[in-house]
Amino acid sequence: MRGGDTMDRVILIKYGELTTKKSNRNYFINTLYNNIKNKLSDYNVNIHKDRAKMYIEFEDKDLETIKSIINKIFGIHTYHIAYIVESNDKSIQEKLLEIIKTKEFKTFKIEVKRSDKKFPITSQEYNHVLGGLVLRNTSNVTVDVHNPELKIKVEIREDKTFIYFDSYNGAGGYPTGTQSKGMLMLSGGIDSPVAGYYALKRGMKLDAIYFEAIPHTSIEARNKVISLSKKLALYTDYINLHVVNFTPIQEEIYKNCREDYCITIMRRMMYRIASKLCEKYKGLVIVNGESVGQVASQTLTSMRVINEVTNIPVIRPVACMDKIEIMDVARKIDTYDISIIPFEDCCTVFVPKHPVINPKLEVAIKEENKFDYEKLIEEAVNTVNTIKVDNKEQEYSDLL
Ligand code: ATP
Ligand code: MG
Repeated sequence: MRGGDTMDRVILIKYGELTTKKSNRNYFINTLYNNIKNKLSDYNVNIHKDRAKMYIEFEDKDLETIKSIINKIFGIHTYHIAYIVESNDKSIQEKLLEIIKTKEFKTFKIEVKRSDKKFPITSQEYNHVLGGLVLRNTSNVTVDVHNPELKIKVEIREDKTFIYFDSYNGAGGYPTGTQSKGMLMLSGGIDSPVAGYYALKRGMKLDAIYFEAIPHTSIEARNKVISLSKKLALYTDYINLHVVNFTPIQEEIYKNCREDYCITIMRRMMYRIASKLCEKYKGLVIVNGESVGQVASQTLTSMRVINEVTNIPVIRPVACMDKIEIMDVARKIDTYDISIIPFEDCCTVFVPKHPVINPKLEVAIKEENKFDYEKLIEEAVNTVNTIKVDNKEQEYSDLL
């Protein structure tokens, strides 16, 4: 399967946080294995796994693309591009010699880690053996244990030995799919995609819900949400985006209810619909991008009055983050530029001049009872339009 290159390299994956999950370990590793296999299905790779590590054989020409895919797979703590040899002294020495001939360095350090205790030499002794080998086969090179130009790591494991120089940070978290499904309330804003990213990072599967109010909101606003779903789907398989026609409810609220309570009531309606969609599509929790104190509807008093309509847990990953922090993550996950495209959202088209900051539950209930919302909610749930957004890299820019 190798692509002509002289040296055998693999991507050596370390699990990180998985290691704390004793009883679930195999389940986590198998899920990660399947996720990696799915994501790399277009490439010629062999994936090997055991309880301590995983490694991927690949074709050299695909390395950079595979790295960019790996960087979005949760459950990977760190990874290395490693040379792989049999775990015996001769093979290790031969490979090390072959590699250092291709490297330019003046100082180095060897770090041997022997997890195969059957290997007859201790880590410490083998450090010296390999250090001596490097010194004998180079000129003007010295050992520097504190600040070496080249750090050579040699991991001796039972089946294979890995030699590597670099370490890359993976996406961290738990493998997607190790938790059940959450329903993400996904608007076109900055916060909710970041909330979705964090939910996926904990291993959750996600469906997304978008409330639209055509003709008050445009089809471009919807396409923006599709683009955001696409970015999130890169971290999972695909995302089912449920588009809710919110127009009739939105209009009834503004026709019937006290202006300063419109947002509170609108959000109570959103929560009611999200809860029903949770049941319909087998989500266990709602996830959203609310952040404490950000706007009138996100004071603790508001959150309490809004949350009162459901007993489904609502997870708010960015609740206690500053906007600046949320924006940094949005840039990192590449959703920021889409989020700031200025299209109206159903929350923004009907904003009252002075939304209530400390709403009272009795008032909200009294106001919303001025129209038959149960029927409208049923209708909104029954007429949901579900779009399957896949994780292929191609852009949705043509939609914007
Ligand atoms: P911004 O980044 O500008 O704050 P936002 O999406 O966070 O945008 P908010 O008004 O703060 O908008 O709404 C709080 C949360 O409610 C959102 O993060 C999102 O989870 C949910 N939400 C708001 N509007 C919608 C909508 N039209 N469709 C789906 N979810 C929405
Ligand atoms: Mg917000």
